[in-house]
Amino acid sequence: MHHHASDAFILGTYPLRERDRIVVFLTRDAGKKRGVARGSRGPKSAFSGALEPMTEARVLYFEKEGRELVSLNSADVIRSSFPIAKDLDRGLLLSAFAESLQTFVSDSEPAEPFYRLARHALDGLFAGAPADLAAAYFDVWILKLSGLFPSPAECAVCGAPLAVAGPLLFDESRPGFVHPECRSGEAQRVSVTARETLRRILSSPLDPEARPPGLLEVSTVARRARRHFLGHELKSQRVLAELKGE
Ligand SMILES: [Zn+2]
Repeated sequence: MHHHASDAFILGTYPLRERDRIVVFLTRDAGKKRGVARGSRGPKSAFSGALEPMTEARVLYFEKEGRELVSLNSADVIRSSFPIAKDLDRGLLLSAFAESLQTFVSDSEPAEPFYRLARHALDGLFAGAPADLAAAYFDVWILKLSGLFPSPAECAVCGAPLAVAGPLLFDESRPGFVHPECRSGEAQRVSVTARETLRRILSSPLDPEARPPGLLEVSTVARRARRHFLGHELKSQRVLAELKGE
């Protein structure tokens, strides 16, 4: 039996029996964990308010050798996501972040960079970053940290460098950025301004005051690359798209 105390982001909860829940959470040193929170569906639960998606909490849990499910003893809120969840656009984004992290972070492997990304994106939202900026930043970086974001510097087909100036072409079937003569079919054009925005996203912290142009193009690249690797769209993405009438 191992006893752990850790900072964690809550990624999701699932009902279990009448009064309990399974809680999925992200830790720095042990990646993604699943734990049973006993009594957390009860009216006087000690977990009250601490289990919302992307709320950061100090958790205490017990782990038994060879068991996948841990036992979650307590969760004390460090920073509640509630102030952001009140706002529809940004609230949906919290679900999207949580679902992406559940998808891309491994079980029980150290996940410090993912933890820092979650913290950084939340800091940005709390500092007033608009939903589309925080979404583009997060979507690019979760792929980058997973080693899946295509390099904008070299062609995904022939490997030779791409022109350093001018628009980019993104070929979803690779997926990657390609020379015009190397693409195999339809390719998405990424304008010069969107390319510059992507460069900034990949090289600088999220600036909540920034309103860079071309975010939709950058988000589309990230979404298509993600869909290519997963073979499907994230559930939260479908909800977001429906709301925007896409
Ligand atoms: Zn090429």
